[in-house]
Amino acid sequence: LISTVRSALRGRLRQYQMRKSQQQLRESEQRFKSLFEHHPDGIFVRDLSGKLISGNKAIEEITGYTIEELQQEAVPTLAMPEEVGLAPKEFAKTSDGNPKKFRTSSVRKDGSTVEMELAYLPLIINGEITGMHGIARDVTQARNYERRIEHLANHDVLTGLPNRLLLTDRLQQAIDQSRRNGTQTGVLFLDLNRFKQVNDSLGHDLGDLLLEKIASRLKHLVRESDTVARLGGDEFVLVLADLDSIETMAAVAEKVLESVAAPISLAGHELNITTSIGGSVFPKDGHDVATLLKHADLAMYQAKELGSASFRFYDPAMNIKILERLLTESALRRALEKNEFTIYYQPRVCTTHRSIIGVEALVRWKHPEKGLIAPADFIPLAEEIGMISQLGEWVLRTACVQNQAWQNAGLPPIKMAVNLSAQQLHSSGIEKTVASALESSGLNAQYLELEITETSLMQDIDSSYQTLLDIRNTGVSISIDDFGTGYSSLSHIKRLPLNTLKIDKSFIRDIASDRNDAAIVGATIAMARHMDLKVVAEGVTAPAQVRFLMEHACHEMQGYLFSPPLPAAEMGIMLRQGLSRGYEYIGESVLAMW
Ligand code: C2E
Ligand code: MG
Ligand code: MG
Repeated sequence: LISTVRSALRGRLRQYQMRKSQQQLRESEQRFKSLFEHHPDGIFVRDLSGKLISGNKAIEEITGYTIEELQQEAVPTLAMPEEVGLAPKEFAKTSDGNPKKFRTSSVRKDGSTVEMELAYLPLIINGEITGMHGIARDVTQARNYERRIEHLANHDVLTGLPNRLLLTDRLQQAIDQSRRNGTQTGVLFLDLNRFKQVNDSLGHDLGDLLLEKIASRLKHLVRESDTVARLGGDEFVLVLADLDSIETMAAVAEKVLESVAAPISLAGHELNITTSIGGSVFPKDGHDVATLLKHADLAMYQAKELGSASFRFYDPAMNIKILERLLTESALRRALEKNEFTIYYQPRVCTTHRSIIGVEALVRWKHPEKGLIAPADFIPLAEEIGMISQLGEWVLRTACVQNQAWQNAGLPPIKMAVNLSAQQLHSSGIEKTVASALESSGLNAQYLELEITETSLMQDIDSSYQTLLDIRNTGVSISIDDFGTGYSSLSHIKRLPLNTLKIDKSFIRDIASDRNDAAIVGATIAMARHMDLKVVAEGVTAPAQVRFLMEHACHEMQGYLFSPPLPAAEMGIMLRQGLSRGYEYIGESVLAMW
């Protein structure tokens, strides 16, 4: 009996266990089914021939098609494993249980594009591969975002053109392609001329518009396979891929010059802007991105020197010359903060009273290696690189302080003449700078004179007029420097609010021997006096010139005969003595006329 009961119980237990495991199986099946149905990723199953067996709700949402529609062969929405480069069967064999992932995009039922990250993994039943599971994730939004970031990182915001980063990439690709095809790659480096002035005078908004217009012109000039990039500021680079000849490149450069130079109308202004272009060619001028860009840049510098709207190919010979210039340029930029400038003073003497009634401030650069450099050797560069206003302001302030210091030391008050460059004259706010230099030094306006060369005055006579008038109204005098070297006539300058006219030294040199020069200088003095202008003769070196100038009643003289420009301390001593050294050499006959 006991054994019967035991076996019955065992049978019950087995039944119970079986029911229990069946129930467990059902539950586990339901769990998987629910995971399959509710998973946010699209999940589907294909058989070994690639036929779609089933799919979940998410796959319908991602594709816009129902499972039944997806099962029809005509609907190409879900990528097949062929896209990984393998037929479904083979895929299943090789994948060896490992999922294969790839990115794909397809068209939704509504026609829009969906981007997916797809993974295929083998479906293994009883140790046999019987099909594939596919898992699809919609990454459209994420990809769009990525693309936007990528675009921002690789493009210039203003013009939408590729930036330096993408340019580097494209140029590298073009070089590789040329290497394979045995062709050349051309690099054109553009820098707009006088863009800074346009930007300063019209404002940055119009400056930006101008850059956009130029960018769009450049884009239309080149082939689809070429690249137009903006490096920033007013610098652009064109990459001409797979060039057949250098002549083609020169022709493109010509087209670019012309296209940029065509008038641009912006907000009611008609603008004319030009560009300078330098070109380098792979493989002749360099084998890598950095060298090609550097050489095109150097060639551009040389094009600038040729004048507006020029194109220049890179030439290795110019390398050293331009590098030297670049070195000077960077040294000059730092010279101001390193306190390397100094001012020399040259006396102006009164023809009638023989006394020093003024000095001219002449700047020098104490170069740490090259010694004292004359202004002719760095002022033009300072103008070109846009630092003349800063330098000029330093000279103005220092000269005013010096003049006041002499007065404070009890020396008879004299006039300080300071040279102004064209850029300073035409920059806005020059009146304020002058007023501030006077105020901070404590110098009275009557002891300051600004010298402006004839040429810079004539650059823009109307705007000069108002500026000069404003300055003159503060009590500061204005003189026209190097008179005779420009092409103005006395009638021209009659309109301007001037006090003094300085006759250029080239006319003074031969007044004692050349009848033409004598006639010109004689007439100039007479007419200037008639216009109530004070006349100063520059570059007086000989007693014979002094005699001539006295006879023609020239007011003042300046030149090596009286004194070369001197450092402040030496000039101070000369002012204390009251006479310049040169008088010793003038001779009895001239002195007798005084
Ligand atoms: P500038 O204003 O006409 O100055 C007179 C120049 O003639 C000075 O040359 C002076 O040293 C030189 N000189 C004076 N007497 C004689 C003479 O008897 N014979 C000869 N052959 N030359 C004489 P420097 O100092 O080399 O200056 C050259 C030019 O540089 C100046 O011509 C002026 O245009 C410019 N410059 C000098 N300092 C400044 C400055 O602070 N700002 C600006 N913008 N220009 C300056
Ligand atoms: Mg001068
Ligand atoms: Mg002069």
